[in-house]
Amino acid sequence: ESSAELERAESLILEIPDYPSAGILFRDITPLLADGPAFRATVDALIAPFRGTFDAIAGLEARGFLLASAAAYASGTGLMPIRKSGKLPRPAAGVGYSLEYGIAEVEAHADFPRGSRVLVIDDVLATGGTLAAAHEVLRMLDYEVAGTAVLFEIDDLGGRDAVGDPRLHTVFRS
Ligand code: AMP
Repeated sequence: ESSAELERAESLILEIPDYPSAGILFRDITPLLADGPAFRATVDALIAPFRGTFDAIAGLEARGFLLASAAAYASGTGLMPIRKSGKLPRPAAGVGYSLEYGIAEVEAHADFPRGSRVLVIDDVLATGGTLAAAHEVLRMLDYEVAGTAVLFEIDDLGGRDAVGDPRLHTVFRS
């Protein structure tokens, strides 16, 4: 896909001040999802560096699901939803992590063969806590993290260091 198409896609991400709480600049990707060519170019750019290096894709609830399922379809691989706690009927692994206020937990089923190389996808990287917990879930299930692909990186929150994946790839950043 062309870099002009990606530039146009980036312009479709809206910045919403003070959502969901004061001081947060929320990156709203729904206008990008609404635009067919921009959505396709973005999903292609997310997975491009990882071609041939992964067997499966994991996506983070909830907006990560939208990108991860398109990426899995485009790559012909299976999909693992990594969910917030209490949503799965038979969680096989769960990892807690801290948020700005309080704690959260992510959980997954072990539906891929052991040793699968899994590419992890989410929409926004902020502090990195969510992706670090997702990686821990994958390790608990004996999967290999093939890489991490994120649509938008907020680069002044230390998220890249918190994730600690040398193969972290982000399409857009602040
Ligand atoms: P973190 O664990 O701090 O890296 O937060 C990442 C998760 O929270 C992702 O799943 C995002 O969907 C969401 N998130 C955090 N900050 C923002 C933001 N400024 N705009 C949109 N989503 C965000």
